[in-house]
Amino acid sequence: MNGKTVYIVEDEQDISGLVALHLRKSGFIAIEFQSSQNFFNFLKNQIPDLVILDLMLPDADGLEICKYLKASPDYQSIPVIILTARSDESDKILGLELGADDYVTKPFSPRELVARVKSVLRRHSVEHTIVSIGGILVVDTQKYEIHVKNKKIHLTTTEFNILKILLSKKGWVFSREKILELLWHGEKAVIDRTIDVHIKKLREKLGEADKFIKNVRGIGYKIEE
Ligand code: CA
Repeated sequence: MNGKTVYIVEDEQDISGLVALHLRKSGFIAIEFQSSQNFFNFLKNQIPDLVILDLMLPDADGLEICKYLKASPDYQSIPVIILTARSDESDKILGLELGADDYVTKPFSPRELVARVKSVLRRHSVEHTIVSIGGILVVDTQKYEIHVKNKKIHLTTTEFNILKILLSKKGWVFSREKILELLWHGEKAVIDRTIDVHIKKLREKLGEADKFIKNVRGIGYKIEE
């Protein structure tokens, strides 16, 4: 669970500070946003693993933000936990209808919220172990199995892990440095070209499904339908 990024969108700094503190204690990277504008500016550059969203913000309605995220192809897979005041029973229902993954009623215990974050992420990772791309490429990231047009393909661990990294954020461009860092956690000094070699082999094995792996010139690689 360590190293997962959680965005906290909450204008009340006492609350967001306390939540951030407890998340960090549990090994999360917590980033606080006091306004929806800052949040959206940041979101464009980095997609978090989860968003904690207060419904009452000075510059936006949290429900609208939730609705927007859950309707956007880029953001809909980010789990959202909404924070709501006790009286807002209808907000809670509406939030869940709009696709929020859970809600916590104020006042709440930060520990309970952290427990909810963990539970939502656990549920989310189980639901998302099987990924289908373009209807022909199916990847089971838990069983380390991959099928192209129902035919099982054998990949090396490194090839599979590269595919898994690319799949973790579809449409997202990963630089060679980033892929190396995620593969070996900066432990191995491997030159950039190694990634190109692995990806070349990976593409050959994928056959027809190789079209989903795209080389973004001068930057890196991404997976896209
Ligand atoms: Ca608020």
